[in-house]
Amino acid sequence: MKEGRIKVGIIGGGAAGLFTACQLKKHRKDAPVDITIIEKNPVLGKKLTLTGHGRCNITNRKEVSEFKKGLHEAGNFLYPALKEFGPEDTVDFFEKDIGLSLKEEDNNRMFPVCDSAEVLRDTLVSYISGNVDVVCGAKVLDIAKTSVFEVYTTKGNFSFDILVLSCGGSSFPETGSAGDSYMFASGLGHTVVPVRAALAPVKVDKKAREFTSALSGVSVNANASLYYEGSRSASSEGNVLFADFGLTGPAIMELSREIPSGIADMNGWIELDFTPFMSDEQIDREFQKMIDEHPDTKVSTLASKFIPASVSRELSSRAKVTDLYAQNFTRQNRKALCKEIKHLELGIEEAPSLDRAYVTRGGVALKEVDRKTMGSKIVTDLYIIGEALDIDGISGGYNLQACMSEAYMVSKSILGRSS
Ligand SMILES: Cc1cc2nc3c(=O)[nH]c(=O)nc-3n(C[C@H](O)[C@H](O)[C@H](O)COP(=O)(O)OP(=O)(O)OC[C@H]3O[C@@H](n4cnc5c(N)ncnc54)[C@H](O)[C@@H]3O)c2cc1C
Repeated sequence: MKEGRIKVGIIGGGAAGLFTACQLKKHRKDAPVDITIIEKNPVLGKKLTLTGHGRCNITNRKEVSEFKKGLHEAGNFLYPALKEFGPEDTVDFFEKDIGLSLKEEDNNRMFPVCDSAEVLRDTLVSYISGNVDVVCGAKVLDIAKTSVFEVYTTKGNFSFDILVLSCGGSSFPETGSAGDSYMFASGLGHTVVPVRAALAPVKVDKKAREFTSALSGVSVNANASLYYEGSRSASSEGNVLFADFGLTGPAIMELSREIPSGIADMNGWIELDFTPFMSDEQIDREFQKMIDEHPDTKVSTLASKFIPASVSRELSSRAKVTDLYAQNFTRQNRKALCKEIKHLELGIEEAPSLDRAYVTRGGVALKEVDRKTMGSKIVTDLYIIGEALDIDGISGGYNLQACMSEAYMVSKSILGRSS
């Protein structure tokens, strides 16, 4: 801890900034720190109130070694922080310190019992009230480092000894996170890994839209694989939701981070396999059995044994077998329908948009940040957290937990605590 009173500025009062303020408040005891949050929105945590479809999936109660896999390439970077402050610590913090009970849903996802992200945000804000100066409606325009950090905002200028940069990423900019973190970080000498959308819906091309819009609102389990330039680059299994513009749902959102920005010129498509549990040969054998057992049944009805009837109708139409009865279901017809069921190709029109992405892939290069403190290795007394960093997680509470773990490490480092 430095000598005298220390002024800590938290730039951006979203999830990461708020969590940091909470951790500083919890642990500071009589440490001489003055904490200020500067937020450009009129309120703190605007994006937080949208999370989990308004219910806030705050964390995922998996073992830390399992949890880190949900953070892709950044799992190892964040491992020490997760070990010190993992999902169980988040649950404890909310239930014991904040007084907000959580509940566990499928796949270990944790939500507040009240099912309200707004209540969760308000509870956090109440927790820091009186302990942290909150300056809302102040957009930070520039940051300069002299012996202190000079912060220039639309509501006047501030100077801080320690700065926590938590202005978010570039996704869902209507919530305030419009990429300013990257501008400030690169202005201070950091490298920014180019950003792109993650956890985003995917717009398909005109021809594919005929199919997806006919099924708009229908969801189905499938394996989704991404192809471009002739080869498969990634795949994801789970729920796929059809929409007028294309595809969404967990399996597609998961895949979206792998779609490169130049996809429009790379002949990219998503292949859907509606029966990942059966091979092409198994489907064909099943069809042959059904032909014997139900010769007078329409082919599209037979196919609805494996897939929802509405999807079966559309696939049968694509395979040109709509009016066919089982007794006339030739080998060639079966092959055509099986191709649609297991290898449906939907062309991608463009790279997923950051405007609708839940998180941003890319950001401040992790090699320039100390994973034990979240402190910059380039600028003394600067900390960088949240989506400003090159970290993005899968859906299920991983992104907010990353913010919680990072916030804990920052508070520990600022307060000079050993644990
Ligand atoms: C619709 C939606 C649902 C989501 N659901 C979940 C979920 O259930 N679980 C989960 O784990 N993750 C979820 N996420 C992801 C999660 O919300 C983010 O990962 C998380 O909010 C990132 O926190 P952050 O503090 O880095 O950024 P943000 O929460 O975006 O906060 C950044 C803050 O900085 C402020 N700011 C930006 N620029 C300036 C400036 N120049 N001056 C002053 N202030 C500035 C912004 O106004 C904003 O308030 C969801 C995201 C979206 C969009």
